[in-house]
Amino acid sequence: MTFIADRLNLISPSPSIMAMSRAKELIAAGIDVCNMAAGEPDFATPPHIIEAAYAAMLAGQTRYTAVDGTAALKQAICEKFQQENDLAYTPDQISVGAGAKQVLYNALACSVNDGDEVIIPAPYWVSYPDIVRLNGGVPVFLETSAENGFKITPLQLQNAITSRTKWLVLNSPNNPSGAIYSSEELAAFGKVLAVHPQVYILTDDIYEHLIYDGARYVSFAQANPALADRTLTVNGVSKAFAMTGWRIGYAGGPKPLIKAMEKLQSQTSGNPSSVSQAAAAAALKGPKDFFKVWLAEFEARRNLIVSLLDGKAGLQCSPPEGAFYAYVSCAAHLGKTTPQGKRIDNDGDFVMYLLDEHRVATVQGAAYGVSPAFRVSFATSIDTVREACRRIVAACEALR
Ligand code: PLP
Repeated sequence: MTFIADRLNLISPSPSIMAMSRAKELIAAGIDVCNMAAGEPDFATPPHIIEAAYAAMLAGQTRYTAVDGTAALKQAICEKFQQENDLAYTPDQISVGAGAKQVLYNALACSVNDGDEVIIPAPYWVSYPDIVRLNGGVPVFLETSAENGFKITPLQLQNAITSRTKWLVLNSPNNPSGAIYSSEELAAFGKVLAVHPQVYILTDDIYEHLIYDGARYVSFAQANPALADRTLTVNGVSKAFAMTGWRIGYAGGPKPLIKAMEKLQSQTSGNPSSVSQAAAAAALKGPKDFFKVWLAEFEARRNLIVSLLDGKAGLQCSPPEGAFYAYVSCAAHLGKTTPQGKRIDNDGDFVMYLLDEHRVATVQGAAYGVSPAFRVSFATSIDTVREACRRIVAACEALR
């Protein structure tokens, strides 16, 4: 018998956080590593947001707040949803937590019973399946590939739904593939879901502002107003405002679910940081002109990465439509041997080879459910992107 509860065996530590920590350790030890494993913008939180946090502290906003968010922040979130997504939520339909991760956890923990199925398109953000498993649910994966733009089809969805299906999880723009569903594609999913009233839709819109080529963002409930009462729209300030450390995420959705999430949070963490909530409200209500500058920078890096990797040394890298990751196929290199005589049997071996022999930190596709591939984050300077791509190509060319 071990002291640790059996349910912990159902999950693994987040592979992307592990990859990032390993890269940071090597860098701290003085090793020249290109860290392409980061899941956070490399920009600083804009100063007006930091000033709002400071002002809130001086004004005494240093105490417990309402468990699932202050009235001021909930109001700012409702306005954001209305203005940016054409979604009319009232404050009692809003839940705020310590990051979108906590909000997602709460939503699934409050709704998934043993044996309930949760449909998750792959590749997926690493945490969805483990949160489902930890709560007794069964993740049902729908595979996609680069050929179909890493998108599921309405038919795939239809074939996956059973009487035990509780949720469909959508994440657009997607981490790790960058795929974005259009309004028409979302409406086609809506048609399938319309006749399955037991299925709720969890849409994780955290990368909504990071979309390229002038595309317009549409959220699931916006494309499917008739399904809004079965949709939980999750978002947060981490990626859009470079506020990963502040830990504020939020969701808009059906009142009974929002109430249940409040109950759970009241017995787990309590309110998210009062200071971070004030900062998040300032972020949502304040100027957004920096988005354009950041987006132009991310788009330049994306274009560079694709030009340096796609079709080079056996790699395939289609341009991500959004987020700040490229999902690169390394299929041509499986079965090859490194100059040190190690065989590359899977994308985990490939990623270890890149780190150990060529000092580039990436994350293996196995973590995201579609292999053989690796995720390269471009939330790092353009010079680092260039150097990392040079090392990756050199690494591939050295394989035999
Ligand atoms: N959802 C996706 C798709 C993510 O990639 C991440 C972070 O990497 C999160 C949610 C969690 O974000 P937060 O920092 O708000 O917890």
